[in-house]
Amino acid sequence: MFNLENNIFGAEHFKILNEALYISEEITTDYFLFDNKRWMKNPYEILTLKDVPVNEHPDKALAHLVRYTKDLKQKKSGSDDRAFYRICLNDYRILKKTFGGAREKLLPFLLYIMTHELVHIARFALFASHPVISTHKNEERLTHDLTCEILKPLTSIKSLAEVADGFRIGSH
Ligand SMILES: [Zn+2]
Repeated sequence: MFNLENNIFGAEHFKILNEALYISEEITTDYFLFDNKRWMKNPYEILTLKDVPVNEHPDKALAHLVRYTKDLKQKKSGSDDRAFYRICLNDYRILKKTFGGAREKLLPFLLYIMTHELVHIARFALFASHPVISTHKNEERLTHDLTCEILKPLTSIKSLAEVADGFRIGSH
C-alpha cells in the first residue's frame, strides 16, 4: 500500500532507478553514436527531491532538466566542458503515478523518463537543439518521438510501449 508519509524514493526505488539509467544510457549512446568523450563534455547528475535545491524543484513535472553553461572566461582549454546538466526527479510524483513504485510499474516509467532527459542532453550536445532558439513545444514533441523510437527494441520490458505512449501529451 502506498504510504503518503513515506513518499520519496527509498533504497528499493534507487535500485530500479540505477537499472533504468544503465539501460537508458546504453541505448541512447548507441542511438546517437556517442562515445565517452562526448558524454564527458556534457556531464550530468541526477538528483531526487531530497537533494534538489529549492529553486530547481520540478514543481508539478515528473522530472526536469537544468542546464548550466560555463562562461567563456572560465573555460580552461579546448577540451574543457562548457555545459553541465542536472536531471531533477520528482520522486514524490513518480511514486504517486506508479502507485508506490513496484518494480513492474516503476521500471518502464523510469526508462521513459531517463531516456527522454538523455535525449534532451544529446540533442543539446549535438547542437540539434538550442535552448533559446528551439521552441519548447516542438522540442518536446520531437524528444518524445525519439524517446519512443529508442525504447522500441526493448520488447522484453512489460508495458513499456504503453507507458511511453502515455507520455505523448504534456512536457517533462
Ligand atoms: Zn522534455
